[in-house]
Amino acid sequence: MYNLHNRFYSNPEWDSGLHIEVVESKLVVRVPAKILDVCASIQEKITTEFLVAVKATIGKEVVVGSDFYIPRQKATVASVNVEENISGWNAVIHSHPQGMQSFSIVDIESINANNDLSILYEGGSFRVATIRLQKDGLVVLCKTTNIQVVLDRNVLDVDVSNIQQVGYRSCYLHGSEDMFYF
Ligand SMILES: [Zn+2]
Repeated sequence: MYNLHNRFYSNPEWDSGLHIEVVESKLVVRVPAKILDVCASIQEKITTEFLVAVKATIGKEVVVGSDFYIPRQKATVASVNVEENISGWNAVIHSHPQGMQSFSIVDIESINANNDLSILYEGGSFRVATIRLQKDGLVVLCKTTNIQVVLDRNVLDVDVSNIQQVGYRSCYLHGSEDMFYF
C-alpha cells in the first residue's frame, strides 16, 4: 500500500515515543479554488511566510472545505509560529518563499506531524501535501503532489421559465424496478 522504506524521523524533543515516517503516496487532495484565492490574497499583503487553518475530510480522497481561519501568528521569511490553539481545525496550509517547493525537516516534525493534512503553498500554487496517519506512537506522513484545485459550486436560483417541459416525467421508487409515468 505505502512504501515504508523512506526517510525515518524520530523526534525526542517533542515526545519520546513519537516516530515520524514520510512515505510517497498518490493520494488525491482536493482544495476549493476559494482557498487558493485566499492564499493569493494573503501573499499580496504579506512578505513573510504565513499559515492558514482549514478543515479536511480524510477518506479515499482528501477533501478540504471552504472555511478558513488565519490564526494569530509570528512569521518570518523562514518560519511561522502559531500563537493560539487551532485544534478545531485539523488541517493547515503554510507558505514558503518563491523557489522553496518542499517541506523542511522542521515542517515535518512540527506542522506536518501535528495536523491531519498539511499543504505547502509556494509561487501561487499548492505544491505538496502530507496526510497524517498515526498508530501507537508512529506517525506516517503520506506525501503527495496530487493536489487538485476544484471550482466551488454555488447553488443558484436560475429563472427557467423560458423552458417548457414537454413529454413525460418518470420517477423511480426505491427497491422497485417499476417506472411510473405521469
Ligand atoms: Zn515550511
